[in-house]
Amino acid sequence: MSLVGKRINDKRRGYGTILEIKPGKAIVSYDAEDIPDKEVPLKYIKDKKLVTIFEDPIVRKPEDFDKNSKPLNFNNLAYLGFLDDFYDLYSKLIKYNDTIFEEAEQENRCPSLTYYKKLDNSVIDEITKPFFEKYSYLFADPPYIITPKYDNEDLVNFKLYRIDNQRSSPDIKMVRLQFTSFLDKLYNVVFFTLMRDDSNQFITSNSERDFKRLNEHIFAEFEKAASVIHSNSVNIKELDKPIYIFDMLSNTVCSREKHNVSTVRVYVPKLSDLSKIDLPVHYCEDCQRYMIGRHTLSQFDKAYKKILVRRIKMDDPDSVFSEFDLESMLHQYGYNVVEGELTEDERHELLAMLLDTGKMTNFEICSRIEQNLNLFQGRPGYESAAAKWSDDLLFLETYVQR
Ligand SMILES: [Zn+2]
Repeated sequence: MSLVGKRINDKRRGYGTILEIKPGKAIVSYDAEDIPDKEVPLKYIKDKKLVTIFEDPIVRKPEDFDKNSKPLNFNNLAYLGFLDDFYDLYSKLIKYNDTIFEEAEQENRCPSLTYYKKLDNSVIDEITKPFFEKYSYLFADPPYIITPKYDNEDLVNFKLYRIDNQRSSPDIKMVRLQFTSFLDKLYNVVFFTLMRDDSNQFITSNSERDFKRLNEHIFAEFEKAASVIHSNSVNIKELDKPIYIFDMLSNTVCSREKHNVSTVRVYVPKLSDLSKIDLPVHYCEDCQRYMIGRHTLSQFDKAYKKILVRRIKMDDPDSVFSEFDLESMLHQYGYNVVEGELTEDERHELLAMLLDTGKMTNFEICSRIEQNLNLFQGRPGYESAAAKWSDDLLFLETYVQR
């Protein structure tokens, strides 16, 4: 049994996929964006000590929520369609924290001293308010706004820098918190806010029990959200439009101009076998566009080894939706001849899937590739690209004649 491609659950680093086996070790790519690929000793995997292998895709069904895991993790949030909002909150807070940190750095040679003091609760309050208005039900019942209302250093400020303890270095180093650590921090802020009374007294006597209670509440809300997804699944339709990809949803025209945006689910085919999965996306009624956060999409791509959707990256947050300067439809589906991106087999598989699903016709694909060839063939630097285009045309010819 080959271990390559197997999904693992690493107790320390979360979920990942085995990329490669080397003598005595496996190279693992972890799902969390901020963990680089790591070498894991094979004995850990085989003895099931630190790492367990499981067969399911990482975006699991709600009944499989692992209640022993942290409720606020990448996987659960992506599955429920919440991840974009959580990431959006993180991005906004990071932006504010960066500004403060830079100011502190300019003023003081030891920025950690001033950074903590400079953070302004009212600004943080402003940033977190819409988020908590939308999601406080996840944390508390009856829902009430969780605001950092106490002037307590540990609790109120979403301080997103921490001191990096490097014993070898005499200088204090400040590091910015990654998104996965931010989720832990958010959880703690919520917990400690809920566990204080109006006079800022810490009321819990048994924090283990209270942690458990908070987790149960969150998981119960997750299950409710998941059952809504399931009961609506008969009405889900296949995505027939391109999807606009954003880093920050609050940075879109739709968000700034307060368009009518709601989270909906659509069907998209998996590239591997064309079976359908449902994907949480945001739909703007005013612009009639589908949008998704970059992280949610990449989580689903990882879980299902690529999904077949037309993608339009919105690199410039100020640009309004426009189809004029769009990449070709073929490119939107992920086709390219960039060095090191798609192998020959992957390009052919993608082209075959586009034809089989009727998403593009042979004529549309060929005319686009021929157009590229006409434009770039013979130009220096395009030798390899031109060879790939020619090869793909030949493949299409034989594929269509089957
Ligand atoms: Zn809009």
